[in-house]
Amino acid sequence: MKPLPHFVQSPLLRSVPWVYHAFLGADPVEGRDRRERLREVFSLAAETVGTLKQVHSASVLSFEPGDGDVPGGWKREGDALWTEVPGTGVGVHTADCVPILLAHRKFHVAAAVHAGWRGLAAGIIGETVRVLAARFGDAAVGEIVAAAGPCARGCCYEVGEETAEALHALPGEASLLRKGKAPGKWTADLQGIALAALEDAGIPAVQTEAAGPCTICSPRFHSFRREKSTTARQLSFLYIRD
Ligand SMILES: [Zn+2]
Repeated sequence: MKPLPHFVQSPLLRSVPWVYHAFLGADPVEGRDRRERLREVFSLAAETVGTLKQVHSASVLSFEPGDGDVPGGWKREGDALWTEVPGTGVGVHTADCVPILLAHRKFHVAAAVHAGWRGLAAGIIGETVRVLAARFGDAAVGEIVAAAGPCARGCCYEVGEETAEALHALPGEASLLRKGKAPGKWTADLQGIALAALEDAGIPAVQTEAAGPCTICSPRFHSFRREKSTTARQLSFLYIRD
């Protein structure tokens, strides 16, 4: 039996019986591609797990069969994908950006969001919640459960003035700290900013949680900043059971 890739889970999302999920990290098996990983570890066909061509936007799309995470496939552009079809899932690929997974306590729905500072500034999280509210009703927002996964956090993620300014305009400013010794440099915690955005969108704070560490200082997760790789990313996904 091959070793499993590293992954973390959110106890909150695990409490929703009709979905399962993982925030995957690095895979100790070299060369195992993401189709094999989904099949061997989670018994899922990659065709059933939708992903998008991520462009740091506030675009939220609903799953279509052609969105399956297969290599070489044409991808629709967007940064959040949701599904309400049993036997399908949605995922995002990240290195230091924050993956956010959302489910609902009553409705069988799953959403996955990719957000870097640009997506956070563009309001991708609030937009995702608005799209779900449009489909399931405003009252449904109070029973959404969401987790923000491994990403660049305050211990390591240094940003310049332009990024800091964009992030300062968002709720959760406490996640943005000035670094004393380097003028003009700030540190930001994308996980904290994502949680604040979820709360700002109307999801009760007790139904949101952080899952997993800072990618920049945790070698079990891919990090764009640490690895200087534009290709190594990890999948975070949420799947609605059949
Ligand atoms: Zn760190």
